[in-house]
Amino acid sequence: MASSQKPVDLLITGGTFVTMNPARDVLTDSVLVIDQGKFLWIGDRSTAFELFEPAQEIELSCEVVIPGLINVHGHWAMALFRGLVDDCALEDWLSMIWKVEAEVISEETVATGSRLAMLEMIRSGTTCAADMYWHYVVTTEAARKAGFRMVNGPSFADIEGFEEYRNTNQAIALDYLDEYQDVPLVHPCIQAHSAYMTNLDILSLVGKIARDRNLLFITHAAESKGEMDMVRQKYGKTPIEVLDAAGLLGDRTLLAHCVHLSDDEITLLGETGTSVAHCPSSNLKLSSGIARVAEMIKAGVNVAFGTDGAASNNDLDLFHEAQLAALVQKGVTGDPSVLPAEKVFSMLTIAGAQAVGLAEKIGSIEVGKLADLAILDFDVPNLTPCYDHYSHLVYAISAGDVCHVMVEGQFLMRNREMQTLDEAEIMEKAREIARTIRKI
Ligand SMILES: [Zn+2]
Repeated sequence: MASSQKPVDLLITGGTFVTMNPARDVLTDSVLVIDQGKFLWIGDRSTAFELFEPAQEIELSCEVVIPGLINVHGHWAMALFRGLVDDCALEDWLSMIWKVEAEVISEETVATGSRLAMLEMIRSGTTCAADMYWHYVVTTEAARKAGFRMVNGPSFADIEGFEEYRNTNQAIALDYLDEYQDVPLVHPCIQAHSAYMTNLDILSLVGKIARDRNLLFITHAAESKGEMDMVRQKYGKTPIEVLDAAGLLGDRTLLAHCVHLSDDEITLLGETGTSVAHCPSSNLKLSSGIARVAEMIKAGVNVAFGTDGAASNNDLDLFHEAQLAALVQKGVTGDPSVLPAEKVFSMLTIAGAQAVGLAEKIGSIEVGKLADLAILDFDVPNLTPCYDHYSHLVYAISAGDVCHVMVEGQFLMRNREMQTLDEAEIMEKAREIARTIRKI
């Protein structure tokens, strides 16, 4: 019999699998087989050992295995600016951040900032994240080398003072999109910073590239009252109306924030299949407002979570984001039944995958999907006892409970130790950059 067993890379036995498959199965006494970077098989223990001969086996007990979390909106390298500018409104915050960026942003500092962000995201169970920032090729390469899954692409903007490396160079953008169209772990997209930071020419160009190449399009929209005024002055419309008129809403569009929407705009996002990146920490901290998430979900809008940059959050911990979102929506609607825990956890996983156009590949533990997962230690006081896994995953967990993280079959963190990134070196480089920033 032994000779008929199929050799496979890894077998995970025991523990609990919160699969997030369409049936929302939560499995115990099961075995998950991983091979060639994919989930190959899931089933009972005795059959697993008849069928497979694993190169490696992990035996779990109290641990919980979840699909890796998906951070659908962020600015990774801004981890360098965490805690630098707090307690002011978006417009003042932006002008201070842009001043610092103009002084310190380079390929080298972006690489360090991006690696710092990945460390924090991996430590909090994230396996895939979108980015929008300068020197996007540098960040993409940093992610690829770290084995971290990334959604990234040129972000068109028209910002005075950034001519040297502004991302409006179409030829460079198209080269990137060609080069990364079939590279493992890299999922190219096209982005525009926002309606207020671009113009109709840029939006039309970005729309054409997105349509020609069937790419995900990401932009900021309706984040703050100040932005609403600026866009109305510039276009005579709201940000959503501008994007709609430019043909930029649809099921390949992801809008960050959407705090200030009319009822009709919520309906429109639902009807067009547009996704929203909800970033509650950033929206609250900058007093941008509170997105009407419960109403968006009711209207059929796909809502997932983004941390936004660490300069406005100030962390990249998606568990924290999810807990905050659930509590705030219950508080502002006066209805404790909105955003129940299972729904919120789906927003961290499968809805995130849908938001970045990867629902066929990631977001759940299902046979055939890429092996992106996190393993959580539930043998801790804050998760004991456990009546309902979704409840703990939203209301009680903390980033420190994440013990292993895998992307496409490769461990990026094992027993809380980084496997592909040199944590001490990255943090030292970040401190070095901070010494320069302090002098600005
Ligand atoms: Zn943002």
